[in-house]
Amino acid sequence: MTAEKTYIKPATVTEALRIANEHSNDFCYVAGGTDILVNKYQGNKECSCLIDITGLAELKTISIAGDQLKIGALVRLDELKKHEVIAIKFPALLIAAQEVASPMLRKTATIGGNILCENRCSFYNQSEWWREAIGYCLKCDGDVCIATGGKKACFSKFVSDTAPVLISAGAMIELQDIDGVKIIPLETIYTGDGVKPRNIPDTAILTNIILPLNHDFNIVFKKLRPREAVDFTSLTTAVSLNEKGDIKIVIGGVDPKPVVVEGTAKGIPEDYIKKALAKSRVVDNDFYSRKYRREMMRLFLEQSFEELLK
Ligand SMILES: Cc1cc2nc3c(=O)[nH]c(=O)nc-3n(C[C@H](O)[C@H](O)[C@H](O)COP(=O)(O)OP(=O)(O)OC[C@H]3O[C@@H](n4cnc5c(N)ncnc54)[C@H](O)[C@@H]3O)c2cc1C
Repeated sequence: MTAEKTYIKPATVTEALRIANEHSNDFCYVAGGTDILVNKYQGNKECSCLIDITGLAELKTISIAGDQLKIGALVRLDELKKHEVIAIKFPALLIAAQEVASPMLRKTATIGGNILCENRCSFYNQSEWWREAIGYCLKCDGDVCIATGGKKACFSKFVSDTAPVLISAGAMIELQDIDGVKIIPLETIYTGDGVKPRNIPDTAILTNIILPLNHDFNIVFKKLRPREAVDFTSLTTAVSLNEKGDIKIVIGGVDPKPVVVEGTAKGIPEDYIKKALAKSRVVDNDFYSRKYRREMMRLFLEQSFEELLK
């Protein structure tokens, strides 16, 4: 583990980007710090410069622009519930946010940090000596995936609880980098490679999450975890149905990226469930067994369809 040599707290996005570009490859943005700092002090993430972005006031607001709801990346998970439009249009987002970690963490953790939080695996989220004792895995400079008994791909699981709901509602994200602003669908940033689970440039700052207000969504959210009070997900499902009859299933906790299956209310739920199960590369890297999580996935999706289509 490298000790940080520099801690900088910029006041604007432009300043943060300039500093990041000066420290390319050796810095971390810190929002709430509830994910990045744990990874850093456990030796899973090296960086000698911490750029604390909590001073970027422009990323802390929730606003409506035409038919879009813009949620600033630095809005804390616990603050989402104060916004009436979110409560009316996207109640499932509030449920998902309230299921993240524990009350104290939710008062610090941001929504931007949540959708960018690191993938997890029971062979990776361990102390340095533990990882050394098993010969290190692919995600921390080893040569094979230990969870799968030696595969040359990393199956660390995607664990954000808010991202499945956001993707099921067609969320876009706004990214700002030194060369300008980009708006892209949230679901496209996840690579499926557990070693490098996101494809956005390291220096880019997530500024806003954008949700459409011109659709009516009914979204069912479910989460499986050992202890309700604090644990990361073992399985998260979000299934949305909009006013046009479009269905979107998004699953977390069972693959290096969110598993997405789309359909319509006229389709056969069992077909969609089979497709979701086939797409999920669940491995034994969690408190619960692979078999149990697959069974629970089927159950959660069946229950979600029942609730949505009744
Ligand atoms: C005990 C415990 C339990 C937890 N349980 C859950 C859980 O149940 N569900 C869950 O989803 N998470 C859980 N977490 C993980 C974490 O708390 C949340 O994901 C949290 O929302 C992360 O937000 P943060 O602001 O603290 O992110 P940070 O830790 O500050 O950042 C996370 C990552 O995002 C990057 N980042 C943050 N903001 C930006 C931005 N605006 N632009 C560019 N990069 C950015 C950081 O550089 C870092 O790589 C848990 C953590 C702990 C310690």
